[in-house]
Amino acid sequence: MKTVPTIAAARAELKARRTGTIGLVPTMGALHAGHLALFQAAREECDTVVASLFLNPAQFNNAADLAAYPRDEARDAALAEEAGVDILFAPAATELYPTGFATWIEPAGVAEGLEGAYRPGHFRGVATVCVKLFSIIQPDIAYFGRKDAQQVAVIKQVVRDLNLPLEICVVPTVRDSDGLALSSRNVRLSPEDRATALAIPQALATHDPDAARRVLTAAGIEPEYVAIADLDGPTLAVAATVGSTRLIDNVLL
Ligand code: AMP
Repeated sequence: MKTVPTIAAARAELKARRTGTIGLVPTMGALHAGHLALFQAAREECDTVVASLFLNPAQFNNAADLAAYPRDEARDAALAEEAGVDILFAPAATELYPTGFATWIEPAGVAEGLEGAYRPGHFRGVATVCVKLFSIIQPDIAYFGRKDAQQVAVIKQVVRDLNLPLEICVVPTVRDSDGLALSSRNVRLSPEDRATALAIPQALATHDPDAARRVLTAAGIEPEYVAIADLDGPTLAVAATVGSTRLIDNVLL
């Protein structure tokens, strides 16, 4: 695996590989088995697998959340290499957002409501960084997790609306054996918080917003939203803060 910190180095590394298919897996690091499932899907389908490791400040609407986000680049690089990633694009924030950066992708439509309502500017940051990554890497296929269902719907909308020449591949949510969806933020849950958080997958298993709300309330969780929406398919989605950690999860109905 080759780690490249600059756009120029990524482009140079990819130049000789353009005859084959290129798969891109965007990540913010703190890798877990959910990310590894995306790497594996890309490895099976593409000649070259590129992973990006970039904690995108533009998609954080909460400075404390960004500051507390787990980071371990050496561990992430080892996991990516083990998973068969060929190129790890790990730029500094100033590489993607140099002084004077002033052009943003503003997704509307499916980006409104749910995460869009509770995290103002979040999808603007997601859409902008993804379009930049698509422009830099020029993948044939980009891989996203179903865990972030609204993100998948937003990215598919952006790709369609801007006629971007790539395919979006969606990978099912990877869960712990007890049902909790894997997330980089799970390391911030205390053992008690983690036990409480299990009410989230249990609520989703009801496939019903009212029943889901009751399951969450019984566990002492006050959700931000429990909603059915068309997020790349009919979806029951939940967001809730457990302890001080905000979690999202969803199930395809
Ligand atoms: P992140 O590093 O959190 O931005 O996530 C990078 C990619 O991994 C996104 O496409 C996520 O949807 C995906 N992802 C995160 N957690 C999971 C999971 N538990 N199962 C499947 N994909 C996931």
